[in-house]
Amino acid sequence: TKTAKKIAAGDLSLRVTPGTEGREIGELAEAFNNMLERIETLIKELKEVTDNIAHDLRSPITRIRGISETVLSGKQELESYQSMTQDIIAESDCFIEMINTMLEISQTESGVADIEHHPVDIAEIIEKAYQLFLPLAEDKNIKLHTDIKKKPLIVSGDRSKLQRMLANILENAIKFTNDGGEVKVSGRIEGSKILIEVADNGIGIESQDIGRIFSRFYCADKTRSVCGNGLGLSLARSIAIAHKGAVNVESSPGKGSRFIITLPAQS
Ligand code: ADP
Repeated sequence: TKTAKKIAAGDLSLRVTPGTEGREIGELAEAFNNMLERIETLIKELKEVTDNIAHDLRSPITRIRGISETVLSGKQELESYQSMTQDIIAESDCFIEMINTMLEISQTESGVADIEHHPVDIAEIIEKAYQLFLPLAEDKNIKLHTDIKKKPLIVSGDRSKLQRMLANILENAIKFTNDGGEVKVSGRIEGSKILIEVADNGIGIESQDIGRIFSRFYCADKTRSVCGNGLGLSLARSIAIAHKGAVNVESSPGKGSRFIITLPAQS
């Protein structure tokens, strides 16, 4: 009771020490400690998300403020007013996209957003994603190729969400691979499952980051220089889960990463 009171007063790091009061009390103490462990982890994650949001919002808001001050002060040419306003619109668009993505993740996770269930050919989605990302890959001199073992690869789902899921993972593969590297997207069927694999020979992910990259706003690069808003993988995973699938990753730092999306094949 004393420990519980101290915890309620704010010290979440405390734990109850099981004594000699008997098995049931011992089990209760253990369950209490496990619950505390979970709460502490959740609060830590929440704090991290809040810190990251604050960090991500501060720079663009500071830029918008700076531009607005310049607009207000002094007499500028019409052209420069127009260009400054365009900058403000571009910065605002990034915010809107970030907020929309956050809402989309929450809705997909909670099942509020209805997932359409139509037959969707994953082979076609891979081919379209290839066409879409080829210019981006070519800009970085990255060899982008596909390997589709069978056509069609039919799943039941929401075409645009599945496209978004693959796009987010493929965009990362290109973003986190150095110039001259290689990215391969493959599709195949294994038993009752359809597998999409996105493999790159890019910078890879440190083992301590692997479990966290799917969290909202997480960016493995502490300088956050190459990162986006940190929501891409979180959305991709929520879409896979909403389709009764999963996204897994294997990676070696400095050698590359392999993201594997598994979806139930339509019977
Ligand atoms: P971001 O907008 O930062 O790309 P994501 O949620 O898409 O956010 O990814 C989270 C983090 O996971 C990235 O910032 C990066 O550190 C890491 N990551 C994702 N994909 C890869 C990849 N293919 N190679 C290396 N790191 C990756």
